[in-house]
Amino acid sequence: MKRLFATALLPIALLAQAPAPTGIARLKADALASDAAYKDLEYLCDRIGARPSGSKQLDEAIAWAQTVLKREGFVNVRAEPVTIPVWRRGAEQGWIEAPARQTLSVLGLGGTVPTPKGGLTAEVVVVGSFDELKALGEARVKGKIVCFDVPFTNYGATVAYRGAGASEAAKLGAVAALVRSVTPVSLDTPHTGAMNYQKDVAKIPAAAITLENATQLRRLQASGQVPRVHLELESEAPTTAPSANVVGELPGSDKPEEIVVLSGHLDSWDVGQGAQDDGVGCMLALHAAAQIRRSGLQPKRTLRVVLYTNEEHGLAGGRAYLEAHREELPRHAAMLETDSGNGLIQGFSLDLGGGQGRNRAQRAAAPTDAQKRALGLLEGLAPQLADLGAMKMELGGSGADIGPSVAAGVPGIGVGHDNSRYWDVHHTRADTFDKIKPEDLKKNLAILSAFTFALADLPERLDGK
Ligand SMILES: [Zn+2]
Repeated sequence: MKRLFATALLPIALLAQAPAPTGIARLKADALASDAAYKDLEYLCDRIGARPSGSKQLDEAIAWAQTVLKREGFVNVRAEPVTIPVWRRGAEQGWIEAPARQTLSVLGLGGTVPTPKGGLTAEVVVVGSFDELKALGEARVKGKIVCFDVPFTNYGATVAYRGAGASEAAKLGAVAALVRSVTPVSLDTPHTGAMNYQKDVAKIPAAAITLENATQLRRLQASGQVPRVHLELESEAPTTAPSANVVGELPGSDKPEEIVVLSGHLDSWDVGQGAQDDGVGCMLALHAAAQIRRSGLQPKRTLRVVLYTNEEHGLAGGRAYLEAHREELPRHAAMLETDSGNGLIQGFSLDLGGGQGRNRAQRAAAPTDAQKRALGLLEGLAPQLADLGAMKMELGGSGADIGPSVAAGVPGIGVGHDNSRYWDVHHTRADTFDKIKPEDLKKNLAILSAFTFALADLPERLDGK
């Protein structure tokens, strides 16, 4: 009886003596229990909505983000002015006219010129690569609509057709370009995105079409048909508008003059809600820093949250940040950007500046001593995150908005989300809040806040300064 009594008491005694989790352990536990990021993202998506450059919604989001930063106890909260390029979509439609009339799901590419009044109708020639286009030559392209039916391999490779397809087709006399959406899967949803006209090349209208439509046009051509398409794209003449990067800070303890930037971009495309691109990245950046404060922690260095403007169509926000902060750039210990959705974070990539002209593969194959040293510091942080998944630390890219500052010498860190489903709704009407899994968001918040705290608290800097 006595013995049983003692055994029964033991767990209670141990419980009383077990210390409450401290530091990073508490931070992770608090983040896993917090729905603050999810709630704020819901507001951004449902109450503000899509935030294209030059929209009232983007202005609203910029004002709202500052109130959230203040609510979370950030200081020096401000909107840093940026002049941004603006392109606005008008009404759009298209259809296959022959051999059988069928609707095309079209979505103009960002920056496209409009079609002539009443639209244009032309024969379509389908190609699977730039080489195929060039092999056709002017004789078989002039006066036609070029359809680029290029299957998704990886974003970097396939997006080249969205960016440059119109100008390459125009060089051979095409009247318009249709680009198969940059995605591995489709439920008849066209994906927009930025495109660029080359200097001194005729500007022709360019639109994304769906995987379904692109493959149909190719099948028609392969069976000896010459499909004819009608296309109507309206848009306003490009202009500029005032906008801003949103900034807020949580001062560090021992080295408050040194800065670790956490960032995402507040703007989005004009379709959908910009939930995963990049509303969720903004809320992860903001709340990773806020969670550190809510958990009563303060790293050595200052945490600065930057929510950039105009990532999708101009990158003016990223460039303006560099110009506005050039003098204090040497005090930036690291800049981190999350801009690839809410898939579970699997690791972090280190981007040490311009790489002296070496491309990413070369950098990874033969890392410099500086890269090896910095990567070693990041690898030292991985064990603290092991309970949330094995974190891979590697050399790689970082982020589009932080790119200009990273090229100027600040160590950049990319957040390696699992992006296996990211492209499914990327830049579409379907990039909406319902796609965000709350449990994944909590886990990502735990990983990012713990990583950020450890990084900002490191005794040494990644760049050895
Ligand atoms: Zn983005």
